[in-house]
Amino acid sequence: MNISENAEKLINILNENGFKAYVVGGCVRDYLLGKDAGDIDITTSAAPQQVESILQSENIKVVETGIKHGTVTAVLNGKPYEITTFRKDGDYKDSRRPETVDFVTDIKEDLSRRDFTINAMAYNHSEGIVDLFDGQTDLNNKIIRAVGNADLRFKEDALRIMRALRFSSTLGFEIEESTKKAVFDNMHLLSNISSERIFTELTKLLIGDYAMQVLNEYREVIGVIIPELKPAFDCGQNNPWHIYNVYGHIIHAVHAAPKDKIIRLTMLLHDIGKPQVKTTDDRGIDHFKTHAAMGAEIAKKVLKRFKVSNEIFDKVTTLIYYHQSVENVDNIRIKRWLAKIGEDYTRALFQVRLADLYAHNPEKIGYEVEKLSELQKELEEIIAAGEAFKLSDLSVNGNDLLALGYKGRAIGEKLDEILNLVVDDKLENEKKAILNYLNR
Ligand code: ATP
Ligand code: MG
Repeated sequence: MNISENAEKLINILNENGFKAYVVGGCVRDYLLGKDAGDIDITTSAAPQQVESILQSENIKVVETGIKHGTVTAVLNGKPYEITTFRKDGDYKDSRRPETVDFVTDIKEDLSRRDFTINAMAYNHSEGIVDLFDGQTDLNNKIIRAVGNADLRFKEDALRIMRALRFSSTLGFEIEESTKKAVFDNMHLLSNISSERIFTELTKLLIGDYAMQVLNEYREVIGVIIPELKPAFDCGQNNPWHIYNVYGHIIHAVHAAPKDKIIRLTMLLHDIGKPQVKTTDDRGIDHFKTHAAMGAEIAKKVLKRFKVSNEIFDKVTTLIYYHQSVENVDNIRIKRWLAKIGEDYTRALFQVRLADLYAHNPEKIGYEVEKLSELQKELEEIIAAGEAFKLSDLSVNGNDLLALGYKGRAIGEKLDEILNLVVDDKLENEKKAILNYLNR
């Protein structure tokens, strides 16, 4: 296995000082899958203070990032490496992370506390792969299997349920039968887990290649963490534009969206308001008027509970609120949208609308898809050409209006008026032309 030179160096130094050391966990899994490993974790028999003093004597910078849990971070050539002492977890309370950890000398105990067999392997050059739970077999067979008794492992820490779904989505692996049963038996314990940690796993799940399959197979788990989606699960939409029920449409829309966490989160929640506003006309056709506004309100509640950043909150709820306003492709004026919600949100809104459309009846969407793709091109052209769509793009500013005698609020209002005219191509964005207009 071709582990990074830095990690190898750290392992060698610890070995030379009489301690065992390995790369471990996710990075071993990723190496074996032939993927670039994200963060590289090292596990060692040396106690944290020993790691610290050994590495410092080699002039390697060490940061005490989690001494209590046995972790220090070595910084080598500007890159951080977490080095954690072999440990076994103390008692678990309320299906949450253990309060205490005990350091141990046998790597076996350290590997047994890890969540899944594919995440419970260690490696170094002299010993090769340490694989006590047949992680390699499961990796080859594309299986996610808990280390030990799945039911107990999920009762210890229910976040592992979300991690199982996340790995299933990102790797395209099946969750092994008894582990899968334990997922459903213990999913209610997710209510003990902090919403931030659940949200982190949810977003990783959403950007996985197999998100749609996982959202489908494990929708009951999704119903535990987002109960507001439950009414959508079996909500029919008898309408020629649709071939799936609301939840089916939602997961297809997630699948059709680019692998961006904000866009995919928006797709997951975009039609969450539909069941509440559903009406059926006398021909039996279902309608969902105002579902976008309703959805934005419900999404606000969901996102607050997840304690998401302001950026995610604003963007997702804005995109949900407007997702239906760009339904009629013949009436869309891109520059108006740029003026209204800005460049970043406009670009995202069209990604959302396109993903939404792809999850409709494929026989109906040809014209709309074509139009939206044209609009996306137009958007990029407008940006590239530096056309005006925001106040700061105008060739006049507040001072010009002040000089003409405008005061206070009237300045802002007049500038808005000018911008609207410019955006609508009714006035040239040229100082002389604008001043002429104002003097008229
Ligand atoms: P990623 O590629 O997202 O970093 P990862 O498997 O490395 O995936 P981390 O959260 O970085 O995930 O955790 C590193 C390792 O720690 C895991 O591979 C696993 O061995 C162990 N681990 C992490 N979280 C848990 C948990 N909740 N229960 C048991 N073991 C865990
Ligand atoms: Mg990791």
